[in-house]
Amino acid sequence: MDLKAPSNIANYIAGSLQAPLNGKYIDNVNPASGEAYSQTPDSDSKDIDEAVGAAKAAFPLWSTTPAEERFKILNRIAQLIDDNLDALALAETNDNGKPLWLSKRVDIPRASSNFRFFATGIMHFSTDSHSMEDKAINYTLRQPIGVVGCISPWNLPLYLFTWKIAPALAAGNCVVAKPSEVTPMTAYLLSHICIEAGLPAGVLNIVHGTGPGCGAAITAHPGIKAISFTGSTRAGREIAATAAPMFKKVSLELGGKNPNIIFADCDWDKMMRTTVQSSFSNQGQICLCGSRVLVEESIYEKFKAEFIARTKKLIVGDPLDDHSKQGAVVSKLHFDKVLGCIELAKQEGGKILAGGNVVKVPGRCENGLFIEPTIIEGLGPNCRTNMEEIFGPVVTLQSFKTEDEALQLANASDYGLSATIWTQDVSRANRVAAKVHSGIIWVNCWLLRDLRTPFGGFKNSGVGREGGWEALRFFTEPKNVCIEL
Ligand code: NAD
Repeated sequence: MDLKAPSNIANYIAGSLQAPLNGKYIDNVNPASGEAYSQTPDSDSKDIDEAVGAAKAAFPLWSTTPAEERFKILNRIAQLIDDNLDALALAETNDNGKPLWLSKRVDIPRASSNFRFFATGIMHFSTDSHSMEDKAINYTLRQPIGVVGCISPWNLPLYLFTWKIAPALAAGNCVVAKPSEVTPMTAYLLSHICIEAGLPAGVLNIVHGTGPGCGAAITAHPGIKAISFTGSTRAGREIAATAAPMFKKVSLELGGKNPNIIFADCDWDKMMRTTVQSSFSNQGQICLCGSRVLVEESIYEKFKAEFIARTKKLIVGDPLDDHSKQGAVVSKLHFDKVLGCIELAKQEGGKILAGGNVVKVPGRCENGLFIEPTIIEGLGPNCRTNMEEIFGPVVTLQSFKTEDEALQLANASDYGLSATIWTQDVSRANRVAAKVHSGIIWVNCWLLRDLRTPFGGFKNSGVGREGGWEALRFFTEPKNVCIEL
């Protein structure tokens, strides 16, 4: 197949590609060039009604399709993603502004891994049985829920979209999914892949549109029984408020303000290399980025000097250029927000150690949205800069004297998604890992992901867990059957 980004994106409903019923579109802007290079449907509740109808109609057949057959179809989708790596990576870069090499090496391969992993997972999924000695046997049936909604953000567009869709489909559900309106193209191209792979009509429906116009209609639809959402804490709160009185099952993967805790006894080179990545990869637009860098006082000055030097070497440039380490931030709205956060940090008394400015990239990117990777020091744990998620190429530095103080700083945030700990002392690593209030802890590494492990956050970072069996459990309803002997 020959995947190409069209000028008009279409919804994928009941197996076919169609225009939004209201005929309305919004611009899809390439943030690196500033050009509106395609149009995205501005769908509303009528399109969602249609998608739910198609999903309901497809459910009886899909939910009873043998797991082995679902496995084969989902694996075909994975293979087609691999076969179309170049086209998908380019589409993602044009939507998102991230370097093309990053999309090719990480985002798109991880999207096919999602399908492969959950296709295989459903073949090995099993349930419990509880024996009451000679009285009875209980066993748990896990059945697909029905029609489920999947809503995803713009930062890792295809990876996070497929992270939800793949387990939902593998478990036998039919899906109404909405990618971010800011980065719709890879999800649109996925529609073509699903058609080519022979996914039956209506099993997956991809509807494009805004959060208020289209996402909210998914959350509120009585025919949708569960919502898996990744995005901001603000939208997560709205979704929870709508879904709770309807008793919908909800999984919310939300924002982060993650501590990167660096003890003096760390493996210096590995820590430095990884800290630059965990601070600025994807322009800092990864929910797992370590945006609060906490450094033991005895190495603070040495760390600061080397961190600044390495950060200043990061090339901010055209995402299509292999040498660019930093691309554009995703949208004008977000660009303004990040610059506003840098201004706020200054007003709060923060000192800009590196970056802080807009970058002008000449040529095709002269109207692009580029910001220097930025390091700020001199702010306490409770100021807005250290409490609120910025989600851009901006980190703060704070120092600590003791392990207890490191923990206090780490846990000062209302978020609790991930944390990184750098130390060679195994006991300390385990002690600190147990006490940091975050759902994912990396020791002497960052972003290493085993898809079998539970994924998700504490506090304002969300509720529920995705990944591995957790996702297959989320997308199935347990039913206990008790047989008296
Ligand atoms: P966002 O909340 O603005 O949008 C996410 C998705 O939700 C989009 O598809 C959007 O259209 C939709 N949406 C917005 N409001 C909605 C509503 N009221 N009802 C239903 N849908 C709605 O988030 P974003 O700006 O796209 O993404 C950035 C955020 O996502 C950051 O906060 C980041 O930390 C978070 N994130 C979290 C994880 C995680 O795994 N925890 C991963 C990636 C990103």
